[in-house]
Amino acid sequence: MKYEISKQLYNRALRLMPGGVNSPVRSFSSVGGAPVFISRAKGPYIFDEDGNKYVDYIGSWGPLILGHAHPAVVKAIKHTASMGTSYGAPCRLEIELAEMVRKSFKSIDILRMTNSGTEATMSSVRLARGYNGREYIIKFEGCYHGHADYLLVKAGSGATTFGYPSSPGVPKSFTDKTLLAKYNDTGSVEKLFKKYGDKIAAVIIEPVAGNMGVVVPRQDFLISLRNITSKSGSLLIFDEVMTGFRLSPSGAQGINGIKPDLTCLGKIIGGGLPVGAYGGRKDIMKQVSPDGPVYQAGTLSGNPLAMAAGIATLGELSDKTVYKKLERNTEYLVGEILEIANKLGIKIKVNSIGSMFTIFFSGTEVYDYNSALKSDTKIFSRFFKNLLSAGIMFPPSQFETVFVSTAHTEKELKFTVNAVYKALKNL
Ligand code: PLP
Repeated sequence: MKYEISKQLYNRALRLMPGGVNSPVRSFSSVGGAPVFISRAKGPYIFDEDGNKYVDYIGSWGPLILGHAHPAVVKAIKHTASMGTSYGAPCRLEIELAEMVRKSFKSIDILRMTNSGTEATMSSVRLARGYNGREYIIKFEGCYHGHADYLLVKAGSGATTFGYPSSPGVPKSFTDKTLLAKYNDTGSVEKLFKKYGDKIAAVIIEPVAGNMGVVVPRQDFLISLRNITSKSGSLLIFDEVMTGFRLSPSGAQGINGIKPDLTCLGKIIGGGLPVGAYGGRKDIMKQVSPDGPVYQAGTLSGNPLAMAAGIATLGELSDKTVYKKLERNTEYLVGEILEIANKLGIKIKVNSIGSMFTIFFSGTEVYDYNSALKSDTKIFSRFFKNLLSAGIMFPPSQFETVFVSTAHTEKELKFTVNAVYKALKNL
């Protein structure tokens, strides 16, 4: 493959943007080399400026569960854009999307749209603190909840990939009230509750973690979190920015049957346009301005384009067979990958659920942040590059999630299995 034009663009971009990118995870710096610059995408494929074609498993980091430029989504965006892109006043589409979300998520009585997942998590923590008047929060090592100051502590995703899980620039006083627990370790949570008890406003968690790679919670772990928070009067916040409408129409909570007090959404509900949302119990959400005193706002929040793309996406997902098919396709891929690795004698662990999976280059189970960090990132980098040159776009980090979309057909899946075979064989 040739990458000449991408390299030229990268050199131009480096003069203009930190790392030449507008979001760190797009950079290839953890795997080495210049990122490829994308010129267009359609269905399961993404094309770079040099004309190379890849089967895409990044899916814009999760939103594109229908693949790229899905006709229903494109049509909705075009139609809506022709009637104006933002009104700064309420519109019907906001209600339609909110109704669709509420119908799927039984834990959500009322919700507020934002422009990103970061805004959703940041606002939900503020709301929790405003609601019960407490200041401490618990987050889990390796979970990523966007880049609000007090949530950038041992954070996953790009923060871990690039070696700064706790970002400089965040004053210590901003994170003093952020307590850290270990994923899948109820004891670590109980310890904190013993010490800080009625000072803890909320526990925020990815109910299936995707930002240290995929880590699935043990069922009793989430049940314990629900029990502990209910008993102590602190709120349980599920950050389903990644998992909402990805794992089921009602996200991870639809699978584990646990009802959080607040839920954060993003990605899929915007169909590839900037969006986020947080919502939950009525008595809590009634504290949000202008109903209540907890302030939160957004010039472009609920803008008609994002709402229309979200409505079109959720409309397509209402077909009951979609999730089963996604799961079947993912199981096929994961099964084949494990078999290949086994035959070649390469040690990997694959964590997988629904249409999300991560191949960890590790000989041990991955169940939390520390076990994820034991993976061999050098081998991952070689694997990533081998895949790229075979026409497969995986996330350029060991600590991210591979997303399967409804646009991946048998043809792309088989092509992928062949490419994985070559990529592993040539490590
Ligand atoms: N929460 C989770 C679980 C995420 O995966 C992400 C982004 O990847 C965020 C929050 C932040 O969302 P955004 O990038 O839209 O700000």
